[in-house]
Amino acid sequence: MYLKINQVSKTYHLGETTVAALRNVNLEIAKGEFTALVGASGSGKTTLLNLVGTLDTPDVGSIWIDDVDVVKLNEDQKSVFRNRKVGFVFQSFNLLPVLNVFENIELPMTVNSDLTPEERRDRAMQAIKDVGLEDFIAHVPDRLSGGQRQRVAIARALATNPSLIIADEPTANLDSKTAHMIIDLMQNLNQKRNSTFLFSTHDEKLMSRVSRVVRIADGMIADESRK
Ligand code: ADP
Ligand code: MG
Repeated sequence: MYLKINQVSKTYHLGETTVAALRNVNLEIAKGEFTALVGASGSGKTTLLNLVGTLDTPDVGSIWIDDVDVVKLNEDQKSVFRNRKVGFVFQSFNLLPVLNVFENIELPMTVNSDLTPEERRDRAMQAIKDVGLEDFIAHVPDRLSGGQRQRVAIARALATNPSLIIADEPTANLDSKTAHMIIDLMQNLNQKRNSTFLFSTHDEKLMSRVSRVVRIADGMIADESRK
């Protein structure tokens, strides 16, 4: 099993109140699987994705990725893990406005010192081709549509060749036609690159195309379906 979430709970404390964001979550995802995490706003999707991406730590439980319990890593090890293994895609795209498409996509690879400038350029160009943005390489994000911006963010996530792509509501700021195109693109890339995709959405309409759907409600896995 590529990803194994084992009895994970997470509580947030806000002054006197405590919020049980995740309650005893168990989930297994095979290598190369494309999984949608579906749930209403506040159900715990972002909390779960952040834990899997080692951006946050659970109160209890273990999260095994490629036979490593990432909960037990120290901060330096987590940062190496994120740089090497995980690509993140966010709802709000999170592109740098002063950088053009190519530069935005190349940026995370500059952290990975193993790569030569030529390798960085080749990987960035391959990712740009994979998302169909060859004609927009020199554009800054302001001059792109929402769907194009999310393509840049997906290319940026892919360029480091991560084994895991985490996408937190990547379609929430897009119209429904563009949202469908982005889901289709992610599924094509999932098959082409054989990386494992875990993405969240609160949009039930997007689920028809996805082979595995995991529902979350009130911080608990409610049910699962496969087709
Ligand atoms: P979703 O992404 O499904 O909308 P979240 O994981 O963001 O859900 O939130 C789950 C619950 O945890 C919500 O009740 C939310 O208000 C709470 N929560 C999330 N992050 C924090 C935080 N940093 N501090 C306090 N409460 C939080
Ligand atoms: Mg969220």
